[in-house]
Order: sequence, then structure tokens, then C-alpha cells
Amino acid sequence: MSDADRVAGEGTHVVPTKREELQFVRELLHGRWRHIILVHVFLFFQHSPVFMMPILGGLMLDLVVDGGESRLKWLVFYTSISLVLLIQNIPSCVLRQRYLSLVTRGMGRDLRVRICTQLQRLSLHYHNNTSVGKLQTKALRDVEQVELVPGLMANNVFLFAAQCVITVIAVLFRAPGALVFFIVLVPLAVAIQRVFGRRIGDTVHQYRRSLEGMTSRLSDMLTMIPVTRAHGVEEEEIRAVSSKMDRVFNEGFRFDRIIAVFGASSWVVMQAVQALFLGGAVYAAFQGWLTVGDVLMFNAFFIGLSNALNTLLNTLPQFAQARESLRSIQEVLRSPDIEDYRDKKQVDTPAGHFRFEKVTFVYPRSERHALKNVDLDIPAGSSIALVGGSGSGKSTLISLVLGFIRPTGGRLLLDGRDLAGLDLRSLRRHVGVVTQDTVFFSGTIYENINFGLREANEERASRALRLANAWEFVAELPDGIHTRLGEDGIKLSGGQRQRLAIARALIRNPRVLILDEATSALDVESEELVQNALNRVMRNRTTFMVSHRLATVRHADRIVILERGHITHMGSHGELMEGDNFYSSAVRRNLRFWG
Ligand code: ADP
Ligand code: MG
Repeated sequence: MSDADRVAGEGTHVVPTKREELQFVRELLHGRWRHIILVHVFLFFQHSPVFMMPILGGLMLDLVVDGGESRLKWLVFYTSISLVLLIQNIPSCVLRQRYLSLVTRGMGRDLRVRICTQLQRLSLHYHNNTSVGKLQTKALRDVEQVELVPGLMANNVFLFAAQCVITVIAVLFRAPGALVFFIVLVPLAVAIQRVFGRRIGDTVHQYRRSLEGMTSRLSDMLTMIPVTRAHGVEEEEIRAVSSKMDRVFNEGFRFDRIIAVFGASSWVVMQAVQALFLGGAVYAAFQGWLTVGDVLMFNAFFIGLSNALNTLLNTLPQFAQARESLRSIQEVLRSPDIEDYRDKKQVDTPAGHFRFEKVTFVYPRSERHALKNVDLDIPAGSSIALVGGSGSGKSTLISLVLGFIRPTGGRLLLDGRDLAGLDLRSLRRHVGVVTQDTVFFSGTIYENINFGLREANEERASRALRLANAWEFVAELPDGIHTRLGEDGIKLSGGQRQRLAIARALIRNPRVLILDEATSALDVESEELVQNALNRVMRNRTTFMVSHRLATVRHADRIVILERGHITHMGSHGELMEGDNFYSSAVRRNLRFWG
């Protein structure tokens, strides 16, 4: 893997060592060994005709030459065994498939659940830096590749090994000297693997990277379509996506070519050895060292063996792909960028007293302080408004309160306890967030309002909608609270969506309320409706608000002015208006506090 790859990804992925890969495979197979063994047992039975036919064929042919008196009896016997062997193939095949499915589908399900669990634990920082398309590829395509492995192991590797053992036994019985010819196959196969193995592995890796690059660019393209259209840069977008497609094409082409060369080479080598072998066996029969039956049997074995070897070699690329996919999945599962909840204290019912002590924050890969030495005491149930120019640190301060990021210096306390020692999930259950970007999934208003709640309750939902001044317009919709939103549903105005988002935040009766530009998408009329609602619900909840609307800000108990990550002024509306500062001058000039 090149350095460029390291930087291009999420910045945290590390190639696992061989031992870690093995450990991972062991984990995957854990609890499935019984089924795996059954797969192999039934597979062996299923294939026993293939193993036994050469032996039976050889024996039958020798009956022609020197069968003696009872040769008809023997012929009937051998034929019956052949038929029995053939008939058992059907039940064996069905059972083999049953256990194989249990293993592969079970592994696929477990892997996907593990990926999803991990994705839910990974920090927002990780998600903001990793494309959805790339993650989908891992959960869908890569898992499918891994699901193929148990089947390959059984059908190609195990059958080959079984074929070897049976051949060796049969040859030892009939003509031990002929074993030499079979042994030639081993160094040949090893040599072919040596020549191609590495190159195939590298090509597969490059191909996977190009595919991930393409899918993440594709998902970016999809999210950017409205912006692209608005700026009339469709051509540029198509060109950018096409270059990723070109890379996939080139890598795929390279991969196909190497597979073709490899497949053909190993086939020709095997066929050539087969021809030589047949010649040698016939010569041995001329000399009377082997019977005609032996020649037939050995030749059938040899063909079987070299074909099995060829199949084995040809699965090499598939194994390489599966290994690559395993690595790709491990990249997510092993990403250290997770929110660690172990040994963290639960937050039961927080009072909501926040205290910043000399809090500093610097974003990764940034030199500037987003916040520096912020001291702030926010008593439970009080409200503060953050105002300041764009980039002054308002959103950073909110992210700290939510625990999405941790102070790089200083401490942030909730009710006297350091946030670093708390289970943030349990804290966030007591926090309601309303932002400018309202996201709803395709479902009814009712389902959206109840999102993530264990028990949905119509009574509670309608109360929350009333508090958010959304009840009137919801009640007028065709299906009321059960009207569908999203793709196949109705379109709402910005103000309506905003009020639904407020209702969603309120339904949990949160102790802490975060309003990040919550009123900015509203027209004057609905602003008043929402503002009334907010004033009502802010009472007795610790509230952080970011807004550039005077009507929203002035109701806060305290207004904090941020400039370049520092607090420059702080006070109530009245107090700040007495002095000369960012806030008072903006209010006097009747400006908004651009955020
Ligand atoms: P505001 O919300 O007041 O506009 P922010 O808190 O978003 O300000 O940003 C404060 C500073 O941190 C800005 O200089 C901004 O460029 C920087 N910043 C914000 N988010 C990131 C990020 N994810 N990575 C690096 N720097 C960031
Ligand atoms: Mg911001």
C-alpha cells in the first residue's frame, strides 16, 4: 500500500498483520466448526463416485483380460457399487449445501451486523470523513466476497486434498513405482503459484482501491446534484466521475489480463504433463510393468488430479479477492476512531449545569485554535446565546457540549463531573437538538417524531407538535399525523420542517436543549410561532442557542460574544446594550449577527 493510499482513506486504516488476519478468520468461524465438518463429510460422499470410478473402471477392464470363472458375478458387483455410489450423490449434495448455506449465510449476517454495530460506535468525525458509498461497498460487496470462501475451501481445496490421498493409496496398492509421476505435480503447482501469486494479490488490491474511490466519488456526485445543477457544472462533474471510472476500467482490465495469462499457463502446463504421463504409462504397459486396467485407472486419476490442481490454482484470484475484502472489512472494524463507552458512568437525570474550565480546542490537521481558554458557567435551567462572526467557534462549542469532540485542553463538566468520564449516549438521551438542516427519513410524521423512542405514543407526539406550534398545519394534512414525508410523501416548507424538528426534540422532554440556527429558516410569521414555542420550552431547561436573529437571542439569560475562539463579552441583552461591543453595535445598526 502506498502512502498516497493511506492519506486518501479515512486516515486511520492500518494493514492488519498476518496474525491479525488469522485471528479474524478464527473469530468468523467460531461456533461454526460442527457445520463446517458436516459440509466436508457430505462433500466427500457426494464426490465419492469421482474418486471410485477410476478404480472400478480399472478393475472391470481387467476382468476382460483375466477374469476367471466368476467374472460375470464380479462385473455385476462392480456395476451395482457404481450405481449405489451415484444415487447417494443426491442426498449428500442436498445436505452438503444445507450446511454450507448455514455457514456462509450465517457468516455474512454476522459480519454485516458487526459492521453496522461498529458504524454506530464510530465517531462523527469518522463519518464526516468517510463516504457513505465506500461504507456501503464494505457492507455489501466485500461481505459477499468473504461469503464465497467456505465454499471455495470445501469444493476446491478439500476435494483436491481428498483426491490426492485416494490417488496415493490406489497407486501404492497397484504399482508403487508409478507414484514418482504423480509427485512431479507438486513442484509444478508450487512454481506456478510463486510466479503469479504476488502479482495477482497486488492487482486485486489496486482494483479494490479503485472501486472504493469510484463508489465514494459516485455518492458525492449524488449528494451534490442540486449544487452542481445550480452552478451549471454538470460537465465538470461528469469528467471527474469519469476519471474514477477510467481507473476502475484500467485496474479491472489489468486484473482480467493477469488472470487470463495465469489460467492459460496453468492449464497448458497441466495438460502437457498429462500427455507425457499417458505416454509413459502406455510405454510401461508395453514393457509389461502395468496392466491395461492399471493404465486406464492411473490415467483417470491423473486427469482427475491435474484438473483438481488446475481448479485449485484458478481459485487463487478468488482467494486473493476474498482476502482483500476481509482487509477492507477489518479497516472499519479495527478503526480506533470510536466513541468508547466502556467504564463510563451513566447519566441518569442530569440537572444540566455545564461548566467550561479553560477549554481549548484545535481540530486535527489544523493549526488554529477553534476555541481558546474558554471559561463559562451555565447554571442548570438557564439559557445562553452564542453570537459572533462566522468561524468564531460557535458550532465547535456546541459540538463539545454534545461530546462529538473532546477538549484538547481544559475540562468540560456536567453537574460537576468531567464529560470525559461519562457515557455520552446516556447524556445525549437527555439532549434535544434542533439545527438548521432538518433531516427526516421516508416515513410518516408520527414515525419521524418518535424516532429512536422505545414506545411510540400518539398522545405525546401530538403534545410535542402543539408545543412546537406545528399541530395546526399537521392536522390539516390529508392523513394528519400519519402523513408520509420524503420520497413518496408530501413536501413541507422550511418553516414547517423546522417546527417538526422542534417537536422531535421536545418529545423526549430533554433537560438540555440545543438550538443551532433553529429559527433561521423561518418566515416572519412562523418565526413568531416558533419563538413563542421555544420561549415556553426553554423554561427550566439548560439551553444553548446559536442564532443571528435578535428576536431569538434577546430572550437568553446570557449572551456570549465569541471572536476567533475567545469570549470577548458576556451578559444579558440589557447589560450588553449598555456597552460598546459586537452585539450592541449590530443591534444599533439593526443588523443580524451573521453566523
Ligand atoms: P462558527 O460556528 O462560529 O462559524 P466553527 O466553530 O464552525 O465556527 O469554527 C471555528 C473554527 O474552526 C473556524 O476557523 C473553522 O474554520 C474551524 N473548523 C471548524 N470545523 C472544522 C473541522 N471539521 N476541521 C478543521 N477546522 C474546522
Ligand atoms: Mg457554525
